[in-house]
Amino acid sequence: MKLKNILSVFALMLASYANIQAQQTKVIAHRGFWKTSGSAQNSITALVKADSIHCYGSEFDVWITTDGQLVVNHDETFKGVTIQDATAAVCTAVRLNNGEQLPTLEQYLSRGQQLTTRLILELKPHRTPEQETKAIEGIVRMIKDFNLENRVEYISFSKHATKEFIRLAPKGTPVYYLSGDATPQELKSWGCAGPDYHFSVFQKNPEWIEQCHKLGMKVNAWTVNDAKNMQWLIEHKVDFITTNEPVLLQQELKM
Ligand code: MG
Repeated sequence: MKLKNILSVFALMLASYANIQAQQTKVIAHRGFWKTSGSAQNSITALVKADSIHCYGSEFDVWITTDGQLVVNHDETFKGVTIQDATAAVCTAVRLNNGEQLPTLEQYLSRGQQLTTRLILELKPHRTPEQETKAIEGIVRMIKDFNLENRVEYISFSKHATKEFIRLAPKGTPVYYLSGDATPQELKSWGCAGPDYHFSVFQKNPEWIEQCHKLGMKVNAWTVNDAKNMQWLIEHKVDFITTNEPVLLQQELKM
């Protein structure tokens, strides 16, 4: 009888530990872990470094070039090259601030395949919906070819791109919308995994976090770089925080 009691207390402790683990906010490195020696935003090094500090995910930005190739960078115009108006050869000749060449998505995924961090792939808003659809068709195909379908999550500020990812990616692939102008109910009706909004949107509408959870969605907040806002979001039980300071966020989560 006594042993049975001890075992049931132990089982309860395990269950609550599992619950805490499941509920804990997860860390996504914004443009990879780039604020560290030898790294740069959206470099392959930044992806490797985000993985090395065990981030849940590493975020990066994707564009399609005039010759239909997919490349990784944040800026519409980077070091004088407007990516959607240039060929892949011109884009990849550009050097990032750590000396790496601007990577193609293929190079990026090829390295990502050897890691475990989740790939948080943002498609930047392009000039036309047709360009976005073409990019998404290429992305979804490449993710399948690299056997990364279970490690990718898609995000976009473009409503069209968000809906196209939902339409074209395998059912169940998480797709989040970034712009902050859709209610939890609207996101649910599109088939979104949830909002990935600027943290101020949740501070203005804190009830959205619980509404999303009740609708079976997850909540991500960007780009949170200070301890005070991190703590506010952790207390309000957001599922993911996207940050330029992943080490600080890891420390805040241990407090
Ligand atoms: Mg981004």
